[in-house]
Amino acid sequence: MRCPFCEANETKVVDSRLLKEGLSVRRRRKCENCERRFTTYESIEIQMPVVVKLDGRREPYQKDKVLKSIAKACGKRPISTEQIERVIDNIEKNVLEISTKEVSSKQIGHLLMLYLRNLDPVAYIRFASVYRTFQDVEEFVHDLQHEEETFNSSTR
Ligand SMILES: [Zn+2]
Repeated sequence: MRCPFCEANETKVVDSRLLKEGLSVRRRRKCENCERRFTTYESIEIQMPVVVKLDGRREPYQKDKVLKSIAKACGKRPISTEQIERVIDNIEKNVLEISTKEVSSKQIGHLLMLYLRNLDPVAYIRFASVYRTFQDVEEFVHDLQHEEETFNSSTR
């Protein structure tokens, strides 16, 4: 790995640590030339299945979208980023168990509900009440954003 500071090719690994139950590695490296230190992360890249939306359109799985809908539902609740990340890791594991090729947005929404129910009752109710109406995570996020905009403009 090339040094990001002086671009020398000789860098040495000074420390290695396994993260996420061994699925990723964090390495501290030291440049042999300028002696500066930097960190690299190595993780397994898993190909997620394609998401089939309610209207039949297909789109690549986007972790970001799942993250946003959980974060929205958990807004102002005592839930840490680590807890949310763990939920996403579990959802992705379950999704891969359903299929490695295609999964519906509805199935992802159901998994989200199951995990939110265990995580936080308020976040669960927030998610479930809107999800049951829209049956689509994407619309849920959109709707919440819209609600916020309406709220913000009415309080201005
Ligand atoms: Zn260097």
